[in-house]
Amino acid sequence: MTLQININNQYSFKDSIADVLDICYTNLKNGYTQETKQQCAIMINLCKNILKTVPSNYNDFIRNYTLVFGIMFRGIIDFCDICNITHKTKWNEDHKKIEKTWVLMCDCNDRIALSIDYYESSLLNWILCEMTTIKNEFNNAFGNSLYFSPEIINIKPKCNICQLDCRACIHLAGNIYDGKLCRFIPEDVSVVSTSIVFEPCDPVVEFGHGI
Ligand SMILES: [Zn+2]
Repeated sequence: MTLQININNQYSFKDSIADVLDICYTNLKNGYTQETKQQCAIMINLCKNILKTVPSNYNDFIRNYTLVFGIMFRGIIDFCDICNITHKTKWNEDHKKIEKTWVLMCDCNDRIALSIDYYESSLLNWILCEMTTIKNEFNNAFGNSLYFSPEIINIKPKCNICQLDCRACIHLAGNIYDGKLCRFIPEDVSVVSTSIVFEPCDPVVEFGHGI
């Protein structure tokens, strides 16, 4: 598929992305995960090129949405990888596949949930529903999960947008500024203890199922 994207026109840019998502949706519904992954990889490269070419502070809309689309296509690739593992029989008897699926699920959920805050799409809603189904299958098969939850003393959290102490800056973690996702970088960190909990901040740090 040849894609023409006019980044100087917001509506045309969003429409082009909607066309690609429609194709991905049809392919995924038919089980064509390889084709979807290839299409998403092309889109991720395109997004990287746009972010390289459109200068900072030149066009906030394009830079912010380009980042969201890049994250979104990465989340769709995660979803394809999950499908490829879980569609095979006995995948849930292989410890490595179970672990890999769990990490992919957490990444996919984060990426698609962030994208859907900025861009409505039936495909994204469908993926989130499918994720919930797979998560329920996990819980049915292995019981409730337990997670490691470290207690961290973060002496100096730095903002990755302005490089200042985040407690003194105007940026909000999880928001996008000029094509960059704001997150706080912990500095001078000390881990004082680790707990095992049912409801973690970060579900990737899973300790075990059905314990
Ligand atoms: Zn800041």
